[in-house]
Amino acid sequence: MLYPELKNNATASPLNIVVPETKGVIINIQRFSVHDGPGIRTVVFLKGCSLRCLWCSNPESIKKRPQVGIYSNRCIGTDKCDACLKASLRCTLKTNREHKVISLKGIPLGEQLEMANACPSDALKVWGKIVTVSEVLQEVLKDRQFYKESGGGLTLSGGEALLQHKFATDILKAAHSLGINTCVETALHYPTATLDKALPYIDLALCDLKHMHADKHKMFIGASNQLILDNLKRIAQSDTPIVIRIPVVPEHNGTKENLRETAQFIKQELKGSVKQVQLLPFRKLGEDKYQALQIPYPMASFSPPARKVWEQTLRNFAQQMCELGVPAVAGTGNQISNEQQPGAIP
Ligand code: SF4
Repeated sequence: MLYPELKNNATASPLNIVVPETKGVIINIQRFSVHDGPGIRTVVFLKGCSLRCLWCSNPESIKKRPQVGIYSNRCIGTDKCDACLKASLRCTLKTNREHKVISLKGIPLGEQLEMANACPSDALKVWGKIVTVSEVLQEVLKDRQFYKESGGGLTLSGGEALLQHKFATDILKAAHSLGINTCVETALHYPTATLDKALPYIDLALCDLKHMHADKHKMFIGASNQLILDNLKRIAQSDTPIVIRIPVVPEHNGTKENLRETAQFIKQELKGSVKQVQLLPFRKLGEDKYQALQIPYPMASFSPPARKVWEQTLRNFAQQMCELGVPAVAGTGNQISNEQQPGAIP
């Protein structure tokens, strides 16, 4: 499809591009983000992830297909409101004693989506929308002027941004053709061939690196870290700049040993490609979404240290990494006040 909006835009380069009709599933598009790469960015969150981090705060991003979650506390009750019942062909939803909807089990997805659309109180929440590459670009292009002024652009995130690899690569390619800077936030757990196809269209790779120890990685993340480490080396070989992002979780990967080993790996294997390491503070978030999706929250019984204490620990870890020659900061550079740390992304 020819992208019509650009035909008369004298500043676009090139003026006309062909955008493939590839479709994908996104969770949402967030404009004016300042935490996901340099400048002001539009972040497109793609649905689907092959990892299972115990501390994941976005369980709605794990499955690739759209899903409907239930917030029973918002339900008016089927004795007073029958909007979802009317939208359901089978009327097989389950309610509790207060007539609030508690389960949609056995109802086909299409029907669940109809019911959620009919619900007046947001008790049935849809996560996932099928969109085309050009629909994504229409949204991204709205803030083109801000990208120019701030050095920003488009960031693909997730879930795992590159799990829907054709969709993601087509977005990146089209954005590049339009002169829009691209970042990809990725956990790198996919075949290297997938990465190779996307790499020419990535200006900055924001890479998760969660644990250096193979067994612990498997235990906390649900998969080996080998592919992730190999893919990181591949990005470094391609000379694409890298920002490493580590969600630092107390008693899991938030240890001096793990961060020392991470710094050593970066120095030895990734050479000068890593522009910054961002140590992101663990926050116990997303429990309500686990409940709505009726899946257990793995960190339910975990009590993290007080926020201020953990943020200070992160600053100490960042200092430790800096001393090992790796430019680390606590937070994303502006998330936590961290003036003494070198290497912040402008
Ligand atoms: S439509 Fe929404 S608020 Fe009404 S009964 Fe169904 S879930 Fe509850």
